[in-house]
Amino acid sequence: MSTENRVIHGNGFPRVLAFRRPADPMRIYDVTVPLSSEVPAFPGDPPFALQRVSRIEDGSPYTLSRLAMGSHSGTHVDAPCHFIGGGATVDQLPLEILMGKARVVELSVSEGIGRGDLEALDLSDDLRLLIKTRMSGQLRQPTFQEDYIYLTPDAAEYLAQIGIKLVGIDYLSIEKFGSQDYASHRALLGAGVVIVEGLDLSEVEAGEYDMACLPLRIAGGDGAPARVVLRTRS
Ligand SMILES: [Zn+2]
Repeated sequence: MSTENRVIHGNGFPRVLAFRRPADPMRIYDVTVPLSSEVPAFPGDPPFALQRVSRIEDGSPYTLSRLAMGSHSGTHVDAPCHFIGGGATVDQLPLEILMGKARVVELSVSEGIGRGDLEALDLSDDLRLLIKTRMSGQLRQPTFQEDYIYLTPDAAEYLAQIGIKLVGIDYLSIEKFGSQDYASHRALLGAGVVIVEGLDLSEVEAGEYDMACLPLRIAGGDGAPARVVLRTRS
């Protein structure tokens, strides 16, 4: 198979019409929600906005944009300092936690994920846990859904106790909507468990994958948008 890109030459510059993908026996899943003005923001958070400040179409030699967004936009990572005063910032999170074997589990709960739902799984071999629920894919709907699936404080404490180092979920918060004490966030972040929110696991089956979860390296950041990909394991 050709590995050449399909290119046309116009206006004196080549333009790629289609990227040829190198053959890879491992399948790669992009579990990141595209950032756009369509992606819902958590109520009260600044929305994502991309504003062109320069355009080729307007005669500029280049296209360039200004970005505005909350630090917890779309698929993103929560750093401990999001809820723990003096806690680690997003640029201080170890890559050894953000990359490596991850287990995807699918739970068919209708509201909160309880300790019992997790005790029923054997997580003894896992450091990174991604939880797929009925919310996967729902961030494609621009309206924020208050009845999203969350992790109960009991379940959060349990994950910290058994040594999970990273937990991901598929809507914008791991906390029950309207919680005033943020007990699930505190239980996880206080124990140094990295939280990933806003995943789209709709194309991914339960199982083990190699994960790369790379939040932007924002100095002092309380969180940051991340590109998260899973690859099937050989
Ligand atoms: Zn967050």
